[in-house]
Amino acid sequence: MCATKTVDVEATVAQTNLLWESGAGVVRIAVDNLNEVAALAKVRDCTTANLSVDLQENYRLALKVAPLVDKIRYNPGHLYHFEPERAWQDKVRMIADTAGENDCAIRIGVNCGSVDPAKLEKYVPADSITPMLESALEHSEFLDSLGFTHFCVSLKDSHPAKVVEANRRFARERPDVPLHLGVTEAGMPPEGIVKTQVAFEQLISQGIGDTIRVSLTVPNNRKHEEIAAGRKILDDIEASRFLGQDSLSTGGLNIISCPSCSRVENASFVELAEKVRKMTEYAANQPFTIAVMGCRVNGPGETDDADLGLWCGANRVNLKRGGQSLGKYTYDEILHRLRKELDSMIASGNRG
Ligand code: SF4
Repeated sequence: MCATKTVDVEATVAQTNLLWESGAGVVRIAVDNLNEVAALAKVRDCTTANLSVDLQENYRLALKVAPLVDKIRYNPGHLYHFEPERAWQDKVRMIADTAGENDCAIRIGVNCGSVDPAKLEKYVPADSITPMLESALEHSEFLDSLGFTHFCVSLKDSHPAKVVEANRRFARERPDVPLHLGVTEAGMPPEGIVKTQVAFEQLISQGIGDTIRVSLTVPNNRKHEEIAAGRKILDDIEASRFLGQDSLSTGGLNIISCPSCSRVENASFVELAEKVRKMTEYAANQPFTIAVMGCRVNGPGETDDADLGLWCGANRVNLKRGGQSLGKYTYDEILHRLRKELDSMIASGNRG
């Protein structure tokens, strides 16, 4: 996925082509407004890459982007925010009709941090997998009912074991639907690659999964490392070189961070994630999860399950302990504040 600002056409074309030349089968670009649609049209003219668009809340942009791309990814959990009075079925019907008219595929992209709120209420916190599964199955059945067959599904979580369980359960129910595999917010290499490989090897070795994405928190000029990592994982699985569950550090500090995309509000985000990793080395044995996210679109929701969460705005970083907000801090202040909170958690033994 491109992490450049979509409106920066030159940078987005360069990154798209680099990903494509590095072996990506499809390059995804985020589009949230009409300026980005206009930029996408220019990118389309400058690359032969297969393009997928990442739609968030404004599903109506499908009308504008479908003629420009090969695939539309929509997130069922984001269809509730924009025009909430309109049923999700109407919105998906519009996306599917538009995709059909433009010979576009669809990915139903279900993500642990942004699941349909009604389903979350039913199951969370006891069970975070069933809401994702129900959402994916429900949307698949709805596309079936429309006669739209050109779709795949993804069920992504930041925890490899949950990715394995969610995808296994979906594959059992709907073996006919192609699955796109990914561990979301896997974090920085090498840990992010290990988490991803451990999940993929358990699925792909059982014949589950049709396409993959490796999500890594790396600077823009290193995004193509995701492709190399993905190709190597596939080679390792083919040669039965498995890492196994034991290669995941269990019980110690877990840092998750998003792979960044055009929605990142401050380019210092990746550097901050690196600094958080370094600063927290002293707490490596502590059983906490720290999440570092790059924007306000997914940051607030996707830090909810972490003990400590940081989501980055343009000038301030929002700090959370579990679901509770602890305020906003400048990029210079945040590490000190985070350390204070981590120390207090260690001293009290209480999670976020
Ligand atoms: S959290 Fe925001 S910046 Fe990070 S990948 Fe998700 S949408 Fe992009």
